[in-house]
Amino acid sequence: MGANPKNRPDRHTGASFALLTKHGKERAIAPRFRSALGAEVVLVDSFDTDTLGTFTRDVPRAGSQWDAARRKAELAIELSGLPRGLGSEGSFSAGPFGFVATNLELLVLKDAELGIEVAGVAVAGGHQASGIFSDWERFAEFARKMLFPSHGLVLRPGDGDDPRIYKDAGDFEKLRAVFSECTALSPEGLVFAESDLRAHRNPTRMETIGQACGDLLRRLQCDCPACGKPGFGLAKKLSGLPCSWCGSPTNDILGEEHKCPACGFTETRDTAEGKKADPKFCPACNP
Ligand SMILES: [Zn+2]
Ligand SMILES: [Zn+2]
Repeated sequence: MGANPKNRPDRHTGASFALLTKHGKERAIAPRFRSALGAEVVLVDSFDTDTLGTFTRDVPRAGSQWDAARRKAELAIELSGLPRGLGSEGSFSAGPFGFVATNLELLVLKDAELGIEVAGVAVAGGHQASGIFSDWERFAEFARKMLFPSHGLVLRPGDGDDPRIYKDAGDFEKLRAVFSECTALSPEGLVFAESDLRAHRNPTRMETIGQACGDLLRRLQCDCPACGKPGFGLAKKLSGLPCSWCGSPTNDILGEEHKCPACGFTETRDTAEGKKADPKFCPACNP
């Protein structure tokens, strides 16, 4: 989106990109790199990415989501010896109702040969919920709503901070056994259950990782008009569309800022095409 991709088959065609994951993220990433660039994604799974933070809170993530994605990309370069590394990191924020949360996925490419860092981003509805259960039938209903067994569930006795974590039930029979084990371990007979957010156990998230990869590939295929390096793309949307009555700036979108992650060159694009904002939303003439 945004900038017109220039097809430039020379730069990354046939290149190899190292990807650090032990959660099967190559399934969402490798086919897209192959079809967009004819490039190969080399899996690096010798490093336990769970030591950088988990969704189950037993290992807190140090630093921001961006820091974590960058760190993984750097580790991919270090461990593979290739000049290009990919790191992916996701975050979830719970929604107000039921089973819908917001999932933000980042895929960062570090290219040590070109000296650039380019990131792809995607935001989508995530499949995430948690609850406390004592009764199998009620829990089984929750599990079905959470699309188990295609989507994984994580169980623990008692509450969400118990260090005894059960992640590996793959079918209802195993799930029932784990549920019984957890109720037996809890003095109150309670089980805390939540969605497994690891990519290989959450196909909804895997799809969003694929979208972030698509965003990264679009940016990679677009050169900066100033320095010629790849990665030029949308950095932010700009508000300030003028009110059709009084001309004051409103919160409506006026245009886009496109930016080069290598040299910082920015270009502002008018996407409003002469449109004006509805005075209903004008902070000046319709407070
Ligand atoms: Zn540039
Ligand atoms: Zn106005």
